[in-house]
Amino acid sequence: MIKLIKKFTASNGINFIARLVFKNDTYGLGSSLTHDRDDPLIEFYDSRYPHTEYGQFVSRYFVSPLLGDEDFEARGLDLQGDVPDWKIDAASLKAVFDWVRDVMDKGPDVYGYLQSHGLHCPNCGSGELDVGNFEFDGSRCYQNVSCEVCGSEWVDHYTLTGCSIINLSKIKAKKDNLK
Ligand SMILES: [Zn+2]
Repeated sequence: MIKLIKKFTASNGINFIARLVFKNDTYGLGSSLTHDRDDPLIEFYDSRYPHTEYGQFVSRYFVSPLLGDEDFEARGLDLQGDVPDWKIDAASLKAVFDWVRDVMDKGPDVYGYLQSHGLHCPNCGSGELDVGNFEFDGSRCYQNVSCEVCGSEWVDHYTLTGCSIINLSKIKAKKDNLK
């Protein structure tokens, strides 16, 4: 699965990550939910605290009502009213909205990306990708990737799909248990 993220620093100096969740993408605690609507979601994370692979989850919105309301772009967005750190100023929010519009207009070629086994940027098609180390969070493995040509960033997700037995121990615990 490919997940599209944008890292940015708000005017208050806080590093955030915005993530777009498209139809059939998973999200939420432990990726336990699947988005089932056509309107994508946008999530904001405070990347100072590694509660998840993106940081600490702050808030989540449907994209259309958020981008459709000019007030947000003019004034910025309070992700959570009582936490001053979690305010995104107007200029930073506009940059995020521009990124969202760009992604939605062009649409990342996720299918082509998966078909190429992750060899070509889903945005511009370039093969010049900067691939991070594998990271493991207990049940899932993931890898940060960015495109050196267009600057897009995303996260590759890996799941265990099978295993090949190389050597079986002569001691078969299960068989013993049956006696
Ligand atoms: Zn690219």
